[in-house]
Amino acid sequence: MAELRQDPISGRWVIIAPDRAHRPNASARLLGFAPQADNPFAVGREAETPGELLALREPGTQPDQPGWRVRVFPNKYPAATFDTVGAPTSDPLAFGQPAVGPHEVIVESARFVTCLSELTPAEVAEVVWVYRERLRWHRAHQTCACAVVFKNKGPAAGATLAHAHAQLLGTPWIPPDLAAELDGCERYHDQTGRELFADVLAHELQVTDRIVAATEHHVVLCPYASRVSGETWIVPRTPGAMFEAIDEDAVTSFAETLHHTLSAWQRAHPDLPYNYAIHSEPYGRSAPTYRWHLELYPRLGNVGGYEWGTGSYVNALPPETAAARLRELW
Ligand SMILES: [Zn+2]
Repeated sequence: MAELRQDPISGRWVIIAPDRAHRPNASARLLGFAPQADNPFAVGREAETPGELLALREPGTQPDQPGWRVRVFPNKYPAATFDTVGAPTSDPLAFGQPAVGPHEVIVESARFVTCLSELTPAEVAEVVWVYRERLRWHRAHQTCACAVVFKNKGPAAGATLAHAHAQLLGTPWIPPDLAAELDGCERYHDQTGRELFADVLAHELQVTDRIVAATEHHVVLCPYASRVSGETWIVPRTPGAMFEAIDEDAVTSFAETLHHTLSAWQRAHPDLPYNYAIHSEPYGRSAPTYRWHLELYPRLGNVGGYEWGTGSYVNALPPETAAARLRELW
């Protein structure tokens, strides 16, 4: 049973999810894991996961049977879940509520691969299509205030299974980093009448030294104030706050850019552990001046005491240097 707790001093919300300690390989995280050890995402082991919510399947195959290419099911060890109910506590020093919201696993290939760069761009397009469909479903059903699709790749990035997968986690609050971006865009628009992301892209394309690639539909860049070494963003050139509003052509072009970006990173650092997250307009707050994007955080260095102690970051790799390296590998 997961629980949401609000720190009475900072106001920060935390998900307390003791069941997650029981995940496969959870205790092996610091040591790494054998790639194919205990892999319940493998074809033929569908009965070991909760029943599927969505799958791209070969014609004539049955749910929760082999024949899938991308498969989504509820997380067996959820940080949040639909079926936990109970009275919220109103004690201001111990304010909390049951964690109600979606937590899903998206297994991204039936083949054993550890990174989307090992798939074809067409296969990555199917994965992106599934991200979009699940985010659409939760918006339509208003299951939470904000759902985020994110990825942990490699034990150093928090993964307990090597088989390529992403997760979708929805919360009744808007996560603070996303809220800060929404506030920043709104403030900029109030002051200038302009869209902040459009101006940032125009500026970066003019300066050029933090640009990794400028494709027809996206700009790949290392942001000016990158928090971690090699932080990389993929930003669409077309305005739009909602990732899940993108059309089929945009799914394909975004998948190509994502595939290319991950391939470049893997060429720079084979088997690089990383995280990424898609930032999109929350369900619980309209943000017409926002622009969706993907943020990728390579695990090139450690997040240490200063970062944990303050929420601020020291980054040893200037984004200009990171972008120059990636440009060469693009
Ligand atoms: Zn963001």
